[in-house]
Amino acid sequence: MPKTKYIFVTGGVTSSLGKGIIAASLAKLLQSSGFSVTIQKLDPYINVDPGTLNPYEHGECFVTDDGAETDLDLGHYERFLNMPTSQANNVTTGRIYQTVINKERRGDYLGKTVQIIPHITNEIKRRIKILGETGDFDIVITEIGGTVGDIESLPYVESVRQLQWELGEHNAIVIHLTLVPYLAAAKELKTKPTQHSVKELMQSGVSPDILVCRTEHHINEGIRRKLALFCNVEKEAIIESIDASTIYDVPNLMRKEGLDKVVLKKLNLKAKEEPTLIAWNKFLEHYKNPKGTINIGLVGKYVELQDAYKSILEAINHAGAQNEIKVNVHSIHSEELNKENVTEKFKGLSGIIVAPGFGDRGIEGKIEAVKFARENNIPFLGICLGMQMAVIEFARNILNLENANSTEMNLSTSHPVIDLMEDQKMVTDKGGTMRLGAWECKLKKNTKAYKAYGTTLINERHRHRYEYNNEYSEQLTNAGLIATGVNPKTDLVEIIELPNHPWFVGVQYHPEYKSTVLNPHPLFVDFIKASIENK
Ligand code: GLN
Repeated sequence: MPKTKYIFVTGGVTSSLGKGIIAASLAKLLQSSGFSVTIQKLDPYINVDPGTLNPYEHGECFVTDDGAETDLDLGHYERFLNMPTSQANNVTTGRIYQTVINKERRGDYLGKTVQIIPHITNEIKRRIKILGETGDFDIVITEIGGTVGDIESLPYVESVRQLQWELGEHNAIVIHLTLVPYLAAAKELKTKPTQHSVKELMQSGVSPDILVCRTEHHINEGIRRKLALFCNVEKEAIIESIDASTIYDVPNLMRKEGLDKVVLKKLNLKAKEEPTLIAWNKFLEHYKNPKGTINIGLVGKYVELQDAYKSILEAINHAGAQNEIKVNVHSIHSEELNKENVTEKFKGLSGIIVAPGFGDRGIEGKIEAVKFARENNIPFLGICLGMQMAVIEFARNILNLENANSTEMNLSTSHPVIDLMEDQKMVTDKGGTMRLGAWECKLKKNTKAYKAYGTTLINERHRHRYEYNNEYSEQLTNAGLIATGVNPKTDLVEIIELPNHPWFVGVQYHPEYKSTVLNPHPLFVDFIKASIENK
């Protein structure tokens, strides 16, 4: 009998139902019942990874320790489970086809006709089983992106069908997430879309074991009975998922509905302990009962789309709860920010974050934001491009290096204070070629960073091509911008600070990727603390 059990999460009726949050919440409950759990996301698009996708298309690109550029759902998985994910946790159709086509070119298929079934489906199944075969997990939850019925989902659904058959009863189950819409005119919840989407799934040979029903109103006994009867699912396996005020409520809501109990029963497993969620609920208590409020500005060029800065917003939530304060984040479009309106736009803000990004759109606004924070002693956190903008601002306005810039924005700048990394110079492909994943960084003592981390050696995740140009380090340091964190092997500057400012820190890495509910990121916690003090 296979050791690892598999749970597949499919979606029906519409996209954006929050499969990732349901998968993460279930995983949380199973984890706190004593099981080791991980979650994998299968994305049916042809991009090899979302690293080449514009944030407007697909929200933030999340980065793992081992340097995978992944779907933002992996961020939720890590934040909920407090455990890192890896390359194996996100697989796209592009990656599947790339592997199969490479094998075909090598002649591995020995003259056979290469087809979706069995070659593509075999590769999908192999990718699903990789995590289970590590022996590290009792349960692997695999979320299938997209909506059942989409052409691109078909090979995935077929792979799930085959795996359920191969793994046998009680070893693999399917949870189908659907929408039960409310018709205001009829004052009724409607089950028909769910019936149709289950029918769609069944046509592919997969019957859901559990239905999780997203709804704006409670589903009553009658609706539960109807859904059970027409969708061929036990009544206790009809799980209501009502709109929640925060995603962090969902594990408790799922527990109340008994999702973890039905799952364990169907997998023939017994909880090793009662899922108490003590630390989780302590976070929720702080999160929901803040002792005050502060306003933080988030300056970026993708602010129209909140998903573009998902991990930053969640890291702020974690840090706010830790400081027992409600943080209102004011999104400020960097393209609309200038010398004339910066004072007005930043009125009432206790702290400023300048966001990561690529390309020159909006960078002059970001530089204005840095200048305002620096001159007005407002706590400032610059992340990746935000840190690079802080160096440029300082070079221009304190060192008087006219037109100082990054060579990303101006190749012929006379003062390239931010320049392309040496090992990037020969790189031509865009996908998966940045400096990615976790790298060590050594902190100087008696600095803001050291005070926040409480240690001298840290490990943070990166996603960039350009770097602080060490040729300017003497000038910058003498004028007061100090490199307080450096990669011990390569000497790349990872952190800059202004010691004569209440809290001014720029980081070349992305601290937001490592913040979790149970482990809020120290830099965000300290930044929020400084912002409270500044209020
Ligand atoms: N565009 C910058 C670089 O590539 C910053 C990247 C980022 O903010 N993630 O170095």
